[in-house]
Amino acid sequence: MNQALVQDIKFLPGAGPKKAATLNKELEIFTFQDLLYYYPYKYIDRTKIFTVREATGNMAYIQLKGKIQRMEEIGEGAKKRMVAYFTDGTGVMELVWFKGIAYAKKSLDINKEYIVFGKPAVFGGKINIAHPDVEEPDVARVSVTGKLQALYHTTEKMKRGYLNSKAMLKLQQNLWPMVKGKIHETLPQWITEKLKLMPLEMALFNIHFPTNGDLLKKAQFRLKFEELFYIQLKILSMKTDRNRRFKGNRFEKIGFNFNTFYEQNLPFELTGAQKRVLREIRKDMGSGRQMNRLLQGDVGSGKTMVALMAGLMALDNGFQVCIMAPTEILANQHYVSVVEFLDGMPVQVGLLTGSTRKKARTELHEKLQNGQMQILIGTHALIEDSVQYQNLGLVVIDEQHRFGVAQRARLWNKNTVPPHVLVMTATPIPRTLAMTIYGDLEVSVIDELPPGRKPIQTLHYFHNKHREVFGFMKKQIELGRQVYVVYPLIQESEKLSYKDLEQGYEQICSYFPKPKYKVSMVHGKMKAADKDAEMQLFVEGKTNIMVATTVIEVGVNVPNASVMVIESSEKFGLSQLHQLRGRVGRGANQSYCILMSDYKLSKEGRKRLDTMVRTNDGFEIAEADLKLRGPGDMEGTQQSGMAFDLKIANLSKDGQLLQYARDIAEKILDDDPVLDKEGNRLLKEQLKVLQKAQFNWSSIS
Ligand code: ADP
Ligand code: MG
Repeated sequence: MNQALVQDIKFLPGAGPKKAATLNKELEIFTFQDLLYYYPYKYIDRTKIFTVREATGNMAYIQLKGKIQRMEEIGEGAKKRMVAYFTDGTGVMELVWFKGIAYAKKSLDINKEYIVFGKPAVFGGKINIAHPDVEEPDVARVSVTGKLQALYHTTEKMKRGYLNSKAMLKLQQNLWPMVKGKIHETLPQWITEKLKLMPLEMALFNIHFPTNGDLLKKAQFRLKFEELFYIQLKILSMKTDRNRRFKGNRFEKIGFNFNTFYEQNLPFELTGAQKRVLREIRKDMGSGRQMNRLLQGDVGSGKTMVALMAGLMALDNGFQVCIMAPTEILANQHYVSVVEFLDGMPVQVGLLTGSTRKKARTELHEKLQNGQMQILIGTHALIEDSVQYQNLGLVVIDEQHRFGVAQRARLWNKNTVPPHVLVMTATPIPRTLAMTIYGDLEVSVIDELPPGRKPIQTLHYFHNKHREVFGFMKKQIELGRQVYVVYPLIQESEKLSYKDLEQGYEQICSYFPKPKYKVSMVHGKMKAADKDAEMQLFVEGKTNIMVATTVIEVGVNVPNASVMVIESSEKFGLSQLHQLRGRVGRGANQSYCILMSDYKLSKEGRKRLDTMVRTNDGFEIAEADLKLRGPGDMEGTQQSGMAFDLKIANLSKDGQLLQYARDIAEKILDDDPVLDKEGNRLLKEQLKVLQKAQFNWSSIS
C-alpha cells in the first residue's frame, strides 16, 4: 500500500470537505491516487494566440489577446446576460455571461490587456464566446503549467460546485508536489527497458502537465500499454490456470450418431467454414484439455448445425449435451429444429425452460440423472443446481454475450471433469473487443454463408414513404412471403414505445384488413406463453405480418420471411440493426430490410443507416459500431458485458498496441505460468492490486 497515495482527497489543499464530497460522488475520486489516475480527455495548445478575425464557429478552444472596450447588461429575468465587447484590433467579438454576471463585471476592467480563452460559437450570425476564461497575460502564463493544457471531463453538478475543468487542473497542480517522488513503478524494469517505456512517475506528470507533444505521446503510450497489458495478463493467466487445473474429457471417437447423421440426415452440404470449425472443435475436444471456444458467425451462417454435430461427437463418446439459449422462444426453436434434424435417430432430446411443468420437469431430472436424456435444450433453467446430469460432456451457449466466467464455472461443476464449452455469438465482435471480453477463449469464425443466399437489399426511407412501403409489403405477401415490422423500445419511455407500437399495429391492421391478412404482435410486456403462441403462429406461416419490439432480435428463424421493416431505425444501435436484419434472408428468396426514419437525423444516426445500406458484413459493421460509439460509451460496454472502462486505451484505435500487449503477456506466461520468477514478482503483486481495485472479473464473459 502506498501511503502517500491512499490519503483521503479531502486533505488535498484546495479540495476541502465540500469539493471532496462532490468528487466522491460524481467521479468516485476518494484518494490522492484516484485523482492522479483521473486523466484528461484532451489537450489544447496554449502557445497559439488566434485573432478575432480568424475565429470561426467550428473551432475548438482558442486563445485571443486584446482588450474589452465596453460592457453592457441585456435582457430581463432568465434572458438576462452580460456582453463584453472585446477587440484585438482585427475585429470585435462578444464575450457573453449568463451566470455570475455581477462577479464578472466587478473583476473585469475596460482597456486592460487580457488573454481570453474559450470555445467560439455562432449566435445570431455573429461569433461569440460564452463564459470564457479571462486572465491577465502573466496570470495566464502561471496557471498553465505546460504549453499543452489538459482538459478534464466534469459533470453538471461539479460545475455548479466550482469544479470545472480548470479547477480540476488546479487540483492536479496542488496534488503533484505531494506525490512527487513517491509513485512506485508498476511495471518490472526489464519490461520498461525492453520496450523503452517512460517511467510511471514521469508518465503521470506528462499526462497532466505535458511540456510538449512528444512527451505527451510517450506518456500516453506508456499508460495505455500498461492498462492493456495487465488486462491481457490477467485474462491469459486465468486461462493458463484453468488449463493447468482442469483436464478435459477426451473425445476420441467419431461414432454411430455422428456418422449416421452425416450420411443419412444432414439435409445439406456443410459449408467450408462449418467443416473447418467442426475440425477445430473436434481437435479441442480430443486434446484431453477442456475446450473453451467462442464461435463467431454472422446471422444465418449455420451455427446451430455446428453445435448439433459437436453434440453428436459428445454422444458418441458416452456424454450428455446441453444447449442453452437466452430466451424461451429460441430454446423452443432449437428444440424443434434439433428434433427434426435427428428424425429417425435413436437420440433422446429434451426441452427445459421456465414454463416446463413440474411433472415434466421431475421426469426430465430423472432422465438426466440416469443418462437416458442425451441432449437437453433450454434456457438459464439448465444451470440451476437442481439440474444434475449423469455425465455432461458439452455445453453450448447460444447467442449469449452476458454469460460471465462465474456462470460458466458453475456449469463446470456439473461434472467432475468440467464439460467442454462452446459459446456461440451472432454479434460479430471486433477483434480488439474479442481479445478483451473473450480473451480467455479460443475463437472460431464462420465467415461463409450457406450457398444460394441472396444478399439482403437494404433501403432507407423517410416516414413520408409509409404508403409505398405498405404497398411493397402487400406485393411480397401476395408472393407468399412474410414480413416483420419492428418498433424500437425506448428505455426512458416505455409508455411511449408501447404507444408507438400499438398505433403502428392499428395502422397496419387497417391497411392489411382481416380476413385476407393476418397480423401477429409480440412485445416484452406480454406473458411468455402468449408471446410464444403469437410467435408460433408466425413461425408456422399462419400470420403474414409480425409486429414486434426487439424481442425478436435474437436468433428467431423463419426462412419464409423476406421483409424486415424497422420503424424509427435511427433509434437503434448498429449491432441491433444488423441483428434485426439477420431475421430475413434466411431462405432462398430475395429479402429486403427497410429502414424507416425521421427526416431529422443526428450525424451518428445518419452514419449508422448509411453503414447498414452499404454493407451486409457483420464484422465491418462491428468495426464501424466500435468507431462510432467509442470505447467509453456506456451502451457499448453494457452491450458487450464488459465490466470495466478503459481509462486511457481505446479499443477502436489501439488495436495494434493491444495485440502487442497480449503477445508480451503470452510470452511471459509461457515462460513463467504462475509468475513465480523473481523478475515477475511485481507483475504478480500488481495483478492482485488491480483485481481488488478495478475490475469485476466475474462478469466478463
Ligand atoms: P445462425 O448461425 O444464425 O444460428 P442457423 O443455424 O439458424 O444460423 O442457420 C440458418 C439457416 O441455415 C437454418 O435454416 C439452417 O438449417 C440453414 N443452414 C445451416 N447450414 C447450412 C448449409 N451448410 N447449407 C444450407 N443451409 C444451411
Ligand atoms: Mg442461431
